[in-house]
Order: sequence, then C-alpha cells, then structure tokens
Amino acid sequence: MANQIGPLIDTFSRPISYLRVSVTDRCDFRCIYCMAKDMAFLPKADLLTLEELDRLCSIFIHLGIKKLRITGGEPLVRKNIMTFFRAMSRHITSGALHELTLTTNGSQLRKYAAELTDCGIKRVNVSLDTLNEQKFADITRWGRLGQVLDGIEAAKAAGLRVKINTVALKGLNEDELFSLLKWCEREDHDLTFIEVMPMGDLGNENRLDQYWSLKDLRARMAERFSLIDLDERTGGPARYVRILETGQKVGFITPLSHNFCESCNRVRLTCTGRLYMCLGQEDMADMRTPLRASSDDTMVKQAIHDAIGRKPKGHDFDYSRQSITGQMIRHMSHTGG
Ligand code: SAM
Ligand code: SF4
Repeated sequence: MANQIGPLIDTFSRPISYLRVSVTDRCDFRCIYCMAKDMAFLPKADLLTLEELDRLCSIFIHLGIKKLRITGGEPLVRKNIMTFFRAMSRHITSGALHELTLTTNGSQLRKYAAELTDCGIKRVNVSLDTLNEQKFADITRWGRLGQVLDGIEAAKAAGLRVKINTVALKGLNEDELFSLLKWCEREDHDLTFIEVMPMGDLGNENRLDQYWSLKDLRARMAERFSLIDLDERTGGPARYVRILETGQKVGFITPLSHNFCESCNRVRLTCTGRLYMCLGQEDMADMRTPLRASSDDTMVKQAIHDAIGRKPKGHDFDYSRQSITGQMIRHMSHTGG
C-alpha cells in the first residue's frame, strides 16, 4: 500500500505543500475575537506529545510539505517547545523543508528569539492590533503592550524578519491605520491586515460588531497613498500592495469580502491531532488514532491521503447580508490561525 502513496494533491488539482500546526490551545492572552473570557482548555492528556508532533510533521514533510508554520494558542507557551523547533530544524538542514516559521503574540520572543534563529527560522509573524497600551489591554485582556514591543525588538536583534499581523477592528483600531503604517515603516516590518472571521463566537461577543471590512480600510489608505497591486501569491487568502510613497509592502487577508480558495495549498493540524482540510469547514480527519495504533507510518500516510482527498473546494463564510453565515463554533486557537 505504501507504494501507492504519492504527492499530496487534492481532487481540485491543488498541490498541498503548506502545513500549519497548532501545538497548544493555551495562551497567555485572551483576545476578544479569539477566546472567551473564561476559556476552558483541553486536558493535557488529549494533546499530541512533542514526540508525536515530531513524528507526524516528519511524515507530512516526507509526503511533500515544504512550509511548516507553528501556531496555537500561543506556541511559545507550550512547555519544552524548543525541543520541537530543534527537531524540525533537521528538515531545514536536510533541505526537505523550505521554511519553518511561527505565528506568535510576541510575549515570549525576548526569551526565545535567539534560539529560534538558531533553529533555522528566518521570519516570524507577530500579532499586534494596536500601539495604544490601554487598547492593547482591552483587546488582549491579559496582555501588556510593552512586553510584546520588547519581544519584537529582541526578534529583530536576533536577525528575524518580523511581519506584523493586525486584525482590523471596527471602532478599536480604525483611528490607528496610519500610525501603525508609520511605525511599521520606521521599524522595517511588513504589515498584513486581517478581517475578523466568524470563529468561536459563543454568544458573548458579536463578531459582526467587530468587523471592519478591508475594502474600507484599503480605500482609506488609497486616499493618502498610491497603492500598487503586487502579483505575489502565497496560496492563501493574502493579497499584497506596495505603497509608492514609502516603499512598504502591505498585505490584506480577506477571506470574507473575497474568496481565494481556488489556489489554497494548505491544511491545518490541531494540537490533538485533528487535520482540518479547510479553516471554514467542520470536516476533519483524526490522525492521533493511526499515529498511536502502530509505530509503522503506513496507516498515518494513508489517513493523510484520504483526508486530502476530501479537501473541500472552499469555505462558506459570508457577512454580506448583515448577518453571519458559515459560522464556525470552533475557536481559532483550536485550529491555529
Ligand atoms: N497566539 C498567536 C498569535 O496571536 O499570533 C498564534 C495563534 S492566533 C489564533 C493566530 C492569528 O489568528 C492571530 O494573528 C490572531 O489575530 C488571529 N485571529 C484569532 N481569532 C481571529 C478571528 N476571529 N478572526 C481573524 N483572525 C483571528
Ligand atoms: Fe492568544 Fe493569539 Fe488567540 Fe490572542 S489571538 S488569544 S494571542 S491565541
């Protein structure tokens, strides 16, 4: 059976080369669009061990995954996570993996930046929605802006390229559009804006209230700057522009006002070993059972192929009728943003 296992290509002829792995559902922040105030976390026994994560990711890499993004929850709060990064760095050294990277809230970067660089990581995405201390505390509930800015500085000093991810939030960071752009220009960080997605809304907060369309954000930028569309594609929902006046590259992740599923090249693995073939659909495949059933990798490889064969054409998120449809009860911290 192992001989039948070929490269990962789905039924819409999309090659799957990008795996995002959530290594924990836990976090030291409680961002209003991501987690409930009183989040219940998974029992530790449900999580894949770091050794299991290593084995599973290595199988994916063997099957042709070229880019691995580690996320969460907050990946850098998982105990001994550097053991895992260190283990994955061997695939960078061998050339099997082209990029190892992570998405982080930045709180632990001061502690880990140098070691991450040492593991072959060249770029990190840091989520930062505001440069205002009070707003930062309001949005993250538990976070401190100073600690994140310090972490970003440490990352830069360690030679990591930093990309800032900013969720566009109506009434919260609308007035900071130009100050965020200016700060990123000064610090030489790329910047990508993200639309709030209807994930994990448990009734306490209304994602629609938080939704600030990137069409509107882009139009406001275009009033002040000349924006040149770039051809660059990452296989995801991001589209990029260059600001003529400053030379900055700015990204827009618009899964709601646009739909770019036709070129999707990615799948997502949760910390419990569930493989989600689409961020916006419930269908998933359990990898933990075949992983634990045998020390031989054949069953896991087959399970991965079967799952890729079920990757749907696209998601169904839609805010267009002023109500949310296609909503996911799953929290982003479970699937990994
Ligand atoms: N803790 C890390 C961080 O904050 O970067 C990694 C995990 S977090 C779930 C990954 C990304 O998802 C962050 O950039 C965050 O802003 C984004 N995110 C979380 N909930 C979201 C939502 N409902 N809509 C859009 N983006 C969301
Ligand atoms: Fe934590 Fe990231 Fe979610 Fe904020 S967005 S609560 S930092 S996992």
